[in-house]
Amino acid sequence: MSNRTLTMIKPDAMKNGFSGAILDMIINAGFRIVALKQTKLSTEKAGEFYAVHKERPFYGELVDFMSSGVIIAAILEKENAVADFRTLIGATNPANADEGTIRKKYATSLGENAVHGSDSDENAKIEGDFFFSALEKF
Ligand code: GDP
Repeated sequence: MSNRTLTMIKPDAMKNGFSGAILDMIINAGFRIVALKQTKLSTEKAGEFYAVHKERPFYGELVDFMSSGVIIAAILEKENAVADFRTLIGATNPANADEGTIRKKYATSLGENAVHGSDSDENAKIEGDFFFSALEKF
């Protein structure tokens, strides 16, 4: 069990003006912000981030979407961070997400689902290092 996870507030939520409300939910749920930045992924960098999904039929759509606008990336800290954050964000498809979850409240669709959350401790470390250097984590 690790105490860190990586989130992105995706382009749909940024464009819809939900970034403040989403960060508020994250902080109110007890996560501490270790690192945070606003950035925009190139198609190449988005492809690299989601390389694990390369063979999936939605890979092209996902890469185009994730490079379509500004995002916020953040490393979050809390006991049991990966699992607790997945609970806070809800199911991948907002139609299946529990009431009160971030995706239920703010996601647009299965593809444009407002937020990313790491799915394992190992990926949380890889994804945190993808966005942040040691000098950016506090
Ligand atoms: P997550 O861990 O809940 O984010 O879900 P996955 O790892 O299964 O998928 C990664 C991301 O790919 C999701 O968050 C969606 O943004 C996107 N995605 C998943 N399934 C689909 C799909 O069927 N169509 C499209 N366009 N995007 C999808």
